Amino acid sequence: MIQIVIDHEKCDGCGICIDVCHKGPRIFKIEKVGNKNMCVVQDASYCNICTTCLSKCPKKAINLIKNGNEKCNKN
Ligand code: SF4
Ligand code: SF4
Repeated sequence: MIQIVIDHEKCDGCGICIDVCHKGPRIFKIEKVGNKNMCVVQDASYCNICTTCLSKCPKKAINLIKNGNEKCNKN
């Protein structure tokens, strides 16, 4: 079970995660929260843990959490 957690303090809603992920539009969407655009996860079940979004997010706002609290990193 994978969880994708967006740090909304860091995310600026640029949408790069949607562009770089092979299932981007299914997994992420950009929403206005308050007066700020930001990324919201709609369905993490499409994630294959490729970690592309982690390395491409310019704000380093994306965390992948597997089995509770283990962060997924490239290996
Ligand atoms: S790439 Fe990063 S900063 Fe841009 S919308 Fe996605 S999570 Fe937010
Ligand atoms: S790790 Fe890969 S499959 Fe999962 S959300 Fe990021 S880019 Fe998409």
